[in-house]
Amino acid sequence: MNLLRRHPVAIVLVVLLLATAIHPLSPLVDAVTGSAPGDVDLERPVLYVLFAPLSNTLDALTFFSLARAVWAFTVWVLLLAAWGAIRASSDSQSPRRVIATALLGPAVVVLLAGAAVLLPRPVPRLVHDGAGTVLDYHAHTNASHDGRPGWTLAKLADWHERQGYEASYVTDHNVVYDGSLPVPGGTSISLLPGVEWSVHQQHVVAIGPVEPLPRDSFQGSTPRMIRIFAAIERQGGLSIASLPEYWRYHWDDLGAFVLGGVDGFEIVNCAPKALGFPSDLRRQVLTLAGSHDLMVVGASDNHGWGRVTCVWNVSLPGAQGFHTNRVFARPLALVQGDWQPWTAAVTQPWFLLRSLSWSERASWLTWVVIILLYRAMPRREGQGAGLGILARSLGPRRRTTVPNETPT
Ligand SMILES: [Zn+2]
Repeated sequence: MNLLRRHPVAIVLVVLLLATAIHPLSPLVDAVTGSAPGDVDLERPVLYVLFAPLSNTLDALTFFSLARAVWAFTVWVLLLAAWGAIRASSDSQSPRRVIATALLGPAVVVLLAGAAVLLPRPVPRLVHDGAGTVLDYHAHTNASHDGRPGWTLAKLADWHERQGYEASYVTDHNVVYDGSLPVPGGTSISLLPGVEWSVHQQHVVAIGPVEPLPRDSFQGSTPRMIRIFAAIERQGGLSIASLPEYWRYHWDDLGAFVLGGVDGFEIVNCAPKALGFPSDLRRQVLTLAGSHDLMVVGASDNHGWGRVTCVWNVSLPGAQGFHTNRVFARPLALVQGDWQPWTAAVTQPWFLLRSLSWSERASWLTWVVIILLYRAMPRREGQGAGLGILARSLGPRRRTTVPNETPT
């Protein structure tokens, strides 16, 4: 009980790490069958596992749907600010010190969010032992209006290569990539021709031998928009209806999409606006696609922000039909769509902990023990103690306090 009172956060974390190991989530899920795949795996670099608490947290922040991100950040910032303020005031600190302590927690949340988007770091890669190519159907460069500045073909290829992809279609917004531009830097990734057309309330990914289209003739109404599927087919390309648009704006038109000649549907898309796609709707799309032998694909929809993808495909480029493509997703990308956004502050960390591998879980526990030991060590005032100095100078207690009396 004494330990719990002195280090409540550490003890709660240990209990959660053990509790979530009882009913873990598979590190990868087959998005079509919903089960754990046998012939693909996530390979994690040593540094990724060594710093698993940071690696896993940054991954979980990257896989946030927009609505869940807003809720989680609001709740975390308010709770941490309140906690800091209460601790500092109960210690009779000056008002300035109370405000400084209250801002510390929110500042860490903002720093972590920034790191998830920008920080170069080791990332997991997909490995597979079956036939086929690890493929991305939908990714952007700085040729897109919302692509990251400086996000060149070479950087996009490098991003894919680090995560185990072997090829990616380049699908910039309304800018055809014909595959003829050389990719500097000696990458092993094949960059394949494609484009993402913005038409009436829908984005349509076109892949294969695509060419410019008179986009205006597919604007204004759903029947006009649907004609783009046949136009892409006449070019020899394949058309894929993108998320979140068909879910948000055309859910009742999917039968018309099929009649119009759409070749497939995205069932997982890692963009924040698309990550909330609920699994019961995914099942309906799978049924529709299965009954018409249409493709279902996963899309990183990478725009240059964030270091990790939430989905991979194992396929043959150019193949068609329901059974030609397999979609493997990180579980957080699938399960969060079934939870109300306001639960995100709790459910996102819960799913993160449930999806840890044993090596990652061991890394988390090791870090908790290291920090506990470090904090339990008696230290005289003025002794050099690295981060301890920072913690003491920003923390609610006075510098004369012996660190082992500070709650964790
Ligand atoms: Zn896109």
